[in-house]
Amino acid sequence: MIRFIAIVAAAVLLPLATAAQPCPGNPQALGTARVLEVDAIATPRVGRKQFPSTLPLNDKELVLNFDDGPWPTTTPKVLDALKHECVQATFFLLGRNVEAHPAVARRELAEGHSLGHHTFSHPLLSHMPLAKAEAEINRGIAADEYALYGQRRSDPATPFFRFPGFVSSPALLAYLQDRGIVVFGADVWASDWLPMMPDQELHLILSRIDKVGRGIVLLHDTKAHTARMLPAFLRELKRRGYHIVHVVPPGSRRILN
Ligand SMILES: [Zn+2]
Repeated sequence: MIRFIAIVAAAVLLPLATAAQPCPGNPQALGTARVLEVDAIATPRVGRKQFPSTLPLNDKELVLNFDDGPWPTTTPKVLDALKHECVQATFFLLGRNVEAHPAVARRELAEGHSLGHHTFSHPLLSHMPLAKAEAEINRGIAADEYALYGQRRSDPATPFFRFPGFVSSPALLAYLQDRGIVVFGADVWASDWLPMMPDQELHLILSRIDKVGRGIVLLHDTKAHTARMLPAFLRELKRRGYHIVHVVPPGSRRILN
């Protein structure tokens, strides 16, 4: 009888245990609501600030992006804040920074974030000959892949890319689409490339998010004010009923419940 009760109890408890993804040490965590596979055939370019369409997100769903890192003083704080809330984000890496701080990039990978690419040294790619721009993209990808996976591959494990300064060209967009690399723009940003106080940034980004209601949110993990405002930002997203979507390349969907 005791054994029977134990089996029934396990059968009842198991779905509950898997339905609520626990976040160690933080029962009130924002969490990651779902995983979305993103590929260059269905969605070659996403983000309404730059392109006609964006990711297929529901109302109140957000995808968090961080650009320009890794940076040794700020990125670990961003990672700590994300970890505390069990939130998965996407980092768009600069090859130059990855070469200088590979351990920080590897921590991003180890903690389950998606790692896209953002060139080697952040030049404006439309301001140079096409071949030079392509070489800059590939140098960034090779540096990132080497630090993360130990191979200087030209086809990235996560084929996501963002243009520095959002400055693209028709030829480069076609080049990336041919290679199956999704170009990420953004739907909302914090303007955190400008100097500002963390509180200022918090109010600005929240008001912009409330206006658009869903989409790709762009931040910079190289900025101290962004790293400082992030814990409060994530708590406030939870309070306002937003849900985090983790974007991954096709075939890498993991069960998050
Ligand atoms: Zn950038």
